[in-house]
Amino acid sequence: MTDPAPLPPGGTIGIIGGGQLGRMAALAAARLGYRVHVFSPEADSPAAQVAAFATVAAYTDAAALETFARAVDVVTFEFENVPADSVRLLSALVPVRPSWRVLDVAQDRIHEKQFFNANGIATPPWREVAGIADLAAAVAEIGRPAVLKTTRLGYDGKGQARIAADTDLAAAWESMGAPVGVLEGFVDFAGEISVIVARGIDGAWAGFEPAWNVHANHILDTTQVPAPLAAGLAADAVAVARRCAEALDLVGLLAVEMFVTRDGRLLANEMAPRPHNSGHWTIDACVTDQFEQFIRAVCGLPLGNPERHSDAVMKNLIGDDVNEWLEVLRDPDAKLHLYGKAEARAGRKMGHVTRLRPRIRS
Ligand code: AMP
Repeated sequence: MTDPAPLPPGGTIGIIGGGQLGRMAALAAARLGYRVHVFSPEADSPAAQVAAFATVAAYTDAAALETFARAVDVVTFEFENVPADSVRLLSALVPVRPSWRVLDVAQDRIHEKQFFNANGIATPPWREVAGIADLAAAVAEIGRPAVLKTTRLGYDGKGQARIAADTDLAAAWESMGAPVGVLEGFVDFAGEISVIVARGIDGAWAGFEPAWNVHANHILDTTQVPAPLAAGLAADAVAVARRCAEALDLVGLLAVEMFVTRDGRLLANEMAPRPHNSGHWTIDACVTDQFEQFIRAVCGLPLGNPERHSDAVMKNLIGDDVNEWLEVLRDPDAKLHLYGKAEARAGRKMGHVTRLRPRIRS
């Protein structure tokens, strides 16, 4: 079968989700001459502010989804936790990239770990737990410290309970607050990295180099490139992400987060089939950034060159950090990105700043 023709400029890309990832994807789409139609439950969302069209409706609103599908040429996601029935409805009317199978794996931590392990990718030790008795048995097997996580809808450390030497298991189970969870061995890591790869309709792929991520309060704080990794390990990390994208037959973008152990092994933590916070540095430091690459993949265009031209450190502006905007603008090496969110609540990602050190400067 021949690959579908590329979507020509002037076409309309439907994006499910209205956050900052959709906003930056919409800006990249506009640069390539596309229009974007955002579908999200919030009015005046960061993505809708920069899109040509917006639908404000619930992800389960079948009538709104159908009208949206008929108004766009292709659908993609900046948010993967969309109900299966909604994705099925969209897929019957319009090309959806990436496919439902990819979202299904990425929506559930257990599916994700099974997928990693089935493809020969190491993870921290893990057990599915469906109750307090399971939890006690799993802790006996895996040992302490460990981390109990919800299988669905967890991000930025939400729905996680650390199980230390003295943690009461019943209390940990209660605090997770879900009927099924996953217990993971706690990794005393040397660091955390992520690799973002794009894969096109024709199976071509392009990977960004691994980025070094530091979290604070379970939220990404900074991302640094180059990552302080041996060349062999960096290549292995890119190979892991590529293997995942190929095994999923992905069309779009995939971010794979990994722990680097103190003895130099990679353990996959989780993946996201969309642009990722740890790839924001690519906007200012690469020939083609993650958002443009995402749009290229989803529209069936040739992938761009992901090469990096500058060293970079990206810092998230969380909550009140955004008040530093004027100071950031005065820094000659800083590139400021704000997401158009009115209210700076604690823990809310308001923007980011990338500080560049161009490679050409001595
Ligand atoms: P997650 O929601 O799984 O990405 O977890 C958020 C953050 O919590 C990770 O980026 C790590 O910093 C930390 N974390 C999660 N799982 C583990 C683990 N098994 N061992 C050590 N740290 C972890």
